[in-house]
Amino acid sequence: MATRTRTPKARGGIDLGGTKIQAVVVDGRSKVLGEARRPTPTSGGPADVAAQMGEALREAAQAAGVEPSALAGVGVGSPGEVNARTGTVSQAKNLPGWAGEFELGNWVHSELGPEVRVGNDVQVATEAEFHLGAGRPYRSLIGVFWGTGVGGGIVLDGQPWLGRGTAGEIGHTVVKLGGAPCPCGRRGCLEAYAGRSAMEAKARREHEDGRKTDLFKLAKKHGRDRLTSGIWERALEKQDALAIELFDRAVEALGAGIASAINLIDVEAVIIGGGIGVRMGKRYAKRIERAMGPHLFDDDNPPAVRVASLGDLGGAIGASLLVKR
Ligand SMILES: [Zn+2]
Repeated sequence: MATRTRTPKARGGIDLGGTKIQAVVVDGRSKVLGEARRPTPTSGGPADVAAQMGEALREAAQAAGVEPSALAGVGVGSPGEVNARTGTVSQAKNLPGWAGEFELGNWVHSELGPEVRVGNDVQVATEAEFHLGAGRPYRSLIGVFWGTGVGGGIVLDGQPWLGRGTAGEIGHTVVKLGGAPCPCGRRGCLEAYAGRSAMEAKARREHEDGRKTDLFKLAKKHGRDRLTSGIWERALEKQDALAIELFDRAVEALGAGIASAINLIDVEAVIIGGGIGVRMGKRYAKRIERAMGPHLFDDDNPPAVRVASLGDLGGAIGASLLVKR
């Protein structure tokens, strides 16, 4: 048990995403000692997902030179509705066979041994940015995670704000009454304009209606069955007119949605993360900031807009923060 004395406060963190499972093992100061990534199963059910999560964390622990059983605990950031007290998850629609409620915390606990705590994936990523990343200079902020969907997290006066459990759903603020269909089943949500899935669906409809675009050719060429952030980026570089149009539309929607949130809670900063947000980086953060301008009530005093700095590992590091330090 030499490893136990060498890293007495090592913690595990797992970010459960719709396409990948990212695991980390961090030390007492949240420095990453080991990491591993596995694809999220696309078939089967919650038990298969939990088994992959266990595998990913064991791999990360091995890379860190720590026995999983020696970890102080493991935090899990999960999509869907999370009950932090019981560690159960429901409504995780991007995960295979996850229609009901699943005891994710208990399952991962029996896979690995240490105590497991479960939180909302976007909220823990926001807290990671607050404590360790781009949000460090601020007391209050929102995180906006621009990727497959548009998620959000809130920190107010140094504390996470969870509301009654589902606070931070900035992706489903309405930016246009009766507007575009959203993957949530409603209309006119921010995510209906800026989420990668909704943008892909729109591109597909336009393409089928005869609109010229290289988006799907590019996806095929790079062996993708989806329009990943990388495919969108390539199309934008090639000045693909449809890609440019859909990104302009996304930026306008993000500007309106984020500015509305600022009008309500007036936090100091907006941290832009997520697969697209991080890939598009500062240039798009600037564009979003400009798009917020016309909608800000206190337009003389706009909040800081920053790109998330923990990148791909932010979600998993944030999950590890759920473990009592
Ligand atoms: Zn929606």
